[in-house]
Amino acid sequence: MRVVMLGPPGAGKGTQAVQLAGRLGVPHISTGDMFRQATQDQSPLGQQVRSYLEQGLLVPDELVIQVVERRLNEPDCQKGFVLDGFPRTLAQAQALDRFLQQQGQPLDAVVLLEVPDELIVERITGRRLDPQTGQIYHLRYNPPPPEVASRLVQRSDDTEETCRRRLNKYHRETEPLVPYYQQQGVLRRVDGTLSPQEVTQRILEALGVK
Ligand code: ADP
Ligand code: ADP
Repeated sequence: MRVVMLGPPGAGKGTQAVQLAGRLGVPHISTGDMFRQATQDQSPLGQQVRSYLEQGLLVPDELVIQVVERRLNEPDCQKGFVLDGFPRTLAQAQALDRFLQQQGQPLDAVVLLEVPDELIVERITGRRLDPQTGQIYHLRYNPPPPEVASRLVQRSDDTEETCRRRLNKYHRETEPLVPYYQQQGVLRRVDGTLSPQEVTQRILEALGVK
């Protein structure tokens, strides 16, 4: 199954993508994770994207599209994938459609996690990551077990100011994808304000996964 997770920053895309990819037995592909890894490795890609990430700006389309197409060409993506954080612009969505059309494997579904702006800042500023496992926690909504608490890190772009800029970008550049995918008949809206377990359940139902 080929699925895209759509929604504002902090909507729970990463949290849900991990669950869904595990359930479907397909890779979870997060452009944000790929860019953060490249930045840590100080690779040429990392150097190209660092300043965009730190400022909460979008990485240029051509670069993102190149990175994603290379990843989707790897053999483990033949059976499907869960894309998280891509596409984020209309140009990226059109490039993805062209790429998948060439392979005769269009998207099965686009899951839109709906979370109102008022909840986003709290979600983002309370987010913490375990660098050893990649597990996503929230200080209040998904508190870490005490034994891992001391090693958790906060993303440098998870400040209130950067969060607001990213949210702005989402409304301007990414939200137009909602009518785009609705027209294609693949959009599935899910209430992202419910508990993580409940959201997972609704996603599986929306996708018809038993
Ligand atoms: P969040 O989980 O808060 O939605 P991500 O981890 O997906 O954020 O992305 C972090 C940053 O990486 C973005 O703010 C942006 O700078 C960059 N990025 C990730 N995916 C894309 C994309 N598809 N297009 C442009 N920039 C991207
Ligand atoms: P995204 O990938 O869309 O930016 P994340 O999955 O990283 O979102 O979640 C953002 C923050 O909100 C994390 O701290 C996560 O633990 C928390 N979170 C995720 N889903 C929920 C939920 N359903 N209810 C409350 N908090 C959540």
